Amino acid sequence: MIDLHTHTTFSDGSQTPTELVEEAAARGLSAIAVTDHDTVDGLPEALAAGERLGVEVIPGVEINLEHDRVTMDMLGYFLAGMPTDELQRELKELRAYRVERNDRMLERLGDLGLPLSRADLAAADEDGAVGRPHIGEAMVRRGYVSSISEAFELYLRRGAPAWVDRRRLALGRALKLLRASGALPVLAHPGIIRTDPAGLNHIVRDAARAGLGGIECYYPLHDAGTVARCLGLAEKYALVPTGGSDSHGTVKPEARLGVGSLGEPVPDEVLSDLRCVAADQLQRLG
Ligand code: AMP
Ligand code: FE
Ligand code: ZN
Repeated sequence: MIDLHTHTTFSDGSQTPTELVEEAAARGLSAIAVTDHDTVDGLPEALAAGERLGVEVIPGVEINLEHDRVTMDMLGYFLAGMPTDELQRELKELRAYRVERNDRMLERLGDLGLPLSRADLAAADEDGAVGRPHIGEAMVRRGYVSSISEAFELYLRRGAPAWVDRRRLALGRALKLLRASGALPVLAHPGIIRTDPAGLNHIVRDAARAGLGGIECYYPLHDAGTVARCLGLAEKYALVPTGGSDSHGTVKPEARLGVGSLGEPVPDEVLSDLRCVAADQLQRLG
């Protein structure tokens, strides 16, 4: 079993990189990609734990972006522990924007009679990527809501009273940054992008032209039709179909490590396919 989409305490997961890799080992996974939002700072710990426990750890990252006024997430794989200064700088800026945005959301919650302070949102890593799940957790701790999903439903989801949009990269910029760092870009969970099939086709076409390498087909929120549509796009644009659970530990208990779509394990072969394409890309970069 493998899982190519996971989060740790360096962004909005509940497990440290070590705990995540320990769980992967306990469940018998041979490989996991660690893909925290806007940070690569958890990778050294994850790689060390993987080495120790015999789980291959693929260094990754997940970045939010926008194209044609639609927002989506891009995964980058095989950072090889050496992201360029440019990528590091950009990630740092994205985390700084998050802090500003969180402050504005806290202000709104305060106005709604649900006060929280910055200190309530502390991430495990002081420079970690803090976001809405941390706010949701803090709201549960204060007894404002009974669960993180209730916090999203009532206050934090797009359009809800405490929601504030955030700044994101343009598609071309994100793809260029990832590729310049030797990372292979893969479009995350296409099935939850807010667009229709024609819109998704356009997004994938434009992204493929700009260097997209894969598309996440196997994902817990993808039904059979979505998986089929994603596999069709992979074929059409010569992309590697990948998969992952988007595990966040207790922050998202419904995601189970190694489980992709339809309750089934992510197929092992997507990793070898991804590795081949990444090797080709590296060679081209010289
Ligand atoms: P942010 O980065 O602050 O915009 O928050 C995005 C994170 O919130 C992602 O990790 C999502 O998995 C999580 N998320 C988005 N919508 C929901 C929801 N309705 N319930 C729980 N988690 C959510
Ligand atoms: Fe995502
Ligand atoms: Zn994710």
